[in-house]
Amino acid sequence: MAFTLYNTLGRELQAFRPIVPGKAGFYGCGPTVYTYAHIGNLRAYVMHDVLARSLRRAGFDVTHVMNITDVGHLSGDNDEGEDKMVKSAGERGQPVLEIARFYTDAFFRDTSRMNILRPTVVCRATEHIDDMIALIRRMEEKGFTYEAGGNLYFDTARFPSYGEMALLRLENQKAGARVEVDRNKRNARDFVLWFTKSKFENQALVWDSPWGKGYPGWHIECSAMSIKYLGEQFDIHAGGIDHISVHHTNEIAQSEAATGKSPWVRYWLHNEFLVLDKEKMSKSAGTFLTLQNLVDAGFDPLDYRYFLLGGHYRSQLQFSWESLEGAKNARRSLAERVKNLAGRAEKAANCTDRPALGAAAYLEAFNGALENDLSTPRALAELWGLLRDTGVEPGEALRAVLDMDGVLALNLKEACSPSAGTEDEQTIREIESLIGERNAAKKVKDFGKADSIRDSLKNKGVILEDGPSGTQWRRA
Ligand code: AMP
Ligand code: ZN
Repeated sequence: MAFTLYNTLGRELQAFRPIVPGKAGFYGCGPTVYTYAHIGNLRAYVMHDVLARSLRRAGFDVTHVMNITDVGHLSGDNDEGEDKMVKSAGERGQPVLEIARFYTDAFFRDTSRMNILRPTVVCRATEHIDDMIALIRRMEEKGFTYEAGGNLYFDTARFPSYGEMALLRLENQKAGARVEVDRNKRNARDFVLWFTKSKFENQALVWDSPWGKGYPGWHIECSAMSIKYLGEQFDIHAGGIDHISVHHTNEIAQSEAATGKSPWVRYWLHNEFLVLDKEKMSKSAGTFLTLQNLVDAGFDPLDYRYFLLGGHYRSQLQFSWESLEGAKNARRSLAERVKNLAGRAEKAANCTDRPALGAAAYLEAFNGALENDLSTPRALAELWGLLRDTGVEPGEALRAVLDMDGVLALNLKEACSPSAGTEDEQTIREIESLIGERNAAKKVKDFGKADSIRDSLKNKGVILEDGPSGTQWRRA
């Protein structure tokens, strides 16, 4: 089966066919480093990580590029509001670059705690101003820009396919439609490529440019840096769904205008949001949790990774402490099973008469799930299926489990260490058989029996947790 991805460009599942066979060039929009990443942001980066790991697993040579936005991102994506970095620096009374360094380090601490691999290239906007200016010059030479009120704008009227990916209905986007309108714009959907004076006079970082001393608009950084590291056309671009209508739409317009090549990017991937109580999690609204908040509440960063893997990246995921608790318990019982498997594998190593039954079918289904638009919930289900299947030769099963962990990245190898201790196999079988009996009782609505099984297990120090991937158990 071909590696299949859901392409926002076309709104359908498509076989992944890279420009250069065997290679995959991939750009994921990175963080704006004016504060800590929230757990919604981290959902986006776990998705990028799963994408990179899955592509590599499928044999692609992956170049993953991520930007660090340390200049030019205003609080509104349509050039309105204040510069997020300048605002944060002002509030803290520290220089912008110091703030940027601090939160960039914090970001990578969080991502590494979640086993998110560092991208092949990490590039800071402030270190690529020349590349941005050069790209803007190319647009200017082709007549896609105009100057007004000291700023340089992209003239969307000159770019007929503007908004195609976002399926924007352009006739509805007249100037004046928004609360705050930049009067310099010929059209509300035009956007700033380069700011000089205009209303943003207090910018801390400014650079010389053909249009005067100033600083770049936000969208241009992603075009300039992705083109620099991946070429004028590349395979995949990823980001959250909030970026479809403005940021990515503008990135496409300016990149294709500058190079004259289309499509600039072949596959556009967008992750759905993590929501808190049905609201989008937002830094500006102050409704956000950081990874450290979860750690302070007694969770391991990998509990959160497990929680995220349990949802498909294109489905909205609702965060609650209860579901995080469920993920924590499931991960614990996963480790328990791996521990047990490792113990059995060690014993089985001395006993050669055992037939080698297939972990291959599970691995194939696991790979198939990832290659089918990164279905991590199905991939997790295959891992659980393998761990529950006592017919698979333990050594083979263990190798397959650790292989799967190459994408899941849940540190399952740690569970195999001798110090981890193992539950004996007979006990596990008994517990699982009782769980099976309890499920059967629940099915026929014999809740009395179901409860009494739960209680009898509890008396033996075994706690049951019902969750999306079935009933898990753990030691009290
Ligand atoms: P930012 O640092 O605001 O530029 O966002 C970084 C990434 O996180 C972008 O790809 C956003 O689309 C994504 N993002 C922002 N909020 C959420 C959320 N609540 N759930 C999932 N992804 C999000
Ligand atoms: Zn971007």
